[in-house]
Amino acid sequence: MTAIACTDLTRRFGALCAVDAVSLQVGRGEFIALLGPSGCGKTTLLRLLAGFEAPDHGQIVIDGTVVARPGASVPPERRRIGMVFQEHALFPHLDVADNVAYGVPRGVGRAAWVRELLALVGLPECARRMPHQLSGGQQQRVALARALAVRPAAILLDEPFSNLDAGLRAEMRTEVCDILRRAAATACFVTHDQEEALSIADTVAVMRHGRIEQVGTPHEVYTRPASREIARFIGEANLLRGRADGPVAHCALGALPLLVPMHGAVDLMIRPEMIDVHHDDAGVMIEQISFFGHDQLIRLRLADATTVRARTLPRPDLRPGMRVALRVSDPVMAYAAD
Ligand code: ATP
Repeated sequence: MTAIACTDLTRRFGALCAVDAVSLQVGRGEFIALLGPSGCGKTTLLRLLAGFEAPDHGQIVIDGTVVARPGASVPPERRRIGMVFQEHALFPHLDVADNVAYGVPRGVGRAAWVRELLALVGLPECARRMPHQLSGGQQQRVALARALAVRPAAILLDEPFSNLDAGLRAEMRTEVCDILRRAAATACFVTHDQEEALSIADTVAVMRHGRIEQVGTPHEVYTRPASREIARFIGEANLLRGRADGPVAHCALGALPLLVPMHGAVDLMIRPEMIDVHHDDAGVMIEQISFFGHDQLIRLRLADATTVRARTLPRPDLRPGMRVALRVSDPVMAYAAD
């Protein structure tokens, strides 16, 4: 079942097309990340879904109901959407239980529902605390409980972790993800952080210049990026000029099998962790090693002066100035050369 379906959605601000003919489907219970660089239109797309912006063109269907098309728009409070913002936006004068209950119709079961939600987000003891008495992570969980309280068709999260410090951010990512899965919620979250999108979403929609350029699982968009630009944006990518001949391409690293057969001049996309490094006095020179603890990035210069980066586990046996042979471990993506 589809929870959200946008078709040909367009929003212009004067001459700028912030969202450009976007079509996207989000299944019930799916967790989708809208990933793209600053200014690519992610927030505008989220605001269109929420009803804070109206489209110039196209339509939005939420749970089978058309909520937006040019000239007709259902207001945000009637779209069955829960929102979680960067700044949590809790009501400072209401305690935790009243913040969560806000928007839930009064009646039998309201208090029990709020208790259930506070248990779901791991704050059963905090009902009577005020927002300023909570940590950033706890405020985030209250905001999530409040968004879930209205039993929304979907939850929209706008850069929900960007105000948290690095340690808490990683912890909250998995926690929010667990809560949304336990609640079987459909969720759409905006981020410019590729690691965040890849690590928690079921599906990643990559946006550039107002358009959705690729939709796929985290594994698909990382291993088979639809373009060189997406390859570079999602993680580190070596792009080497080569010549494809069906299932194989020849480049400075030798003959490499291709993921998709091609012919002619190509750019080959090789992730640094796909390159194995072995000692070889007749090989290429290690220029620099950046050590990160869990792994290291090795900069190498090939015979044709191209720079390549390889990622390996920590290897004290490798040092700048040494010569090594390189072997690519997996088939690679190729893009027709310009
Ligand atoms: P960021 O990650 O920096 O928040 P974003 O991908 O969410 O960026 P949007 O906020 O959707 O991008 O903005 C997309 C483009 O539309 C930007 O060029 C922005 O300046 C422009 N824009 C957004 N809102 C308005 C507005 N109300 N009026 C005019 N231009 C706007």
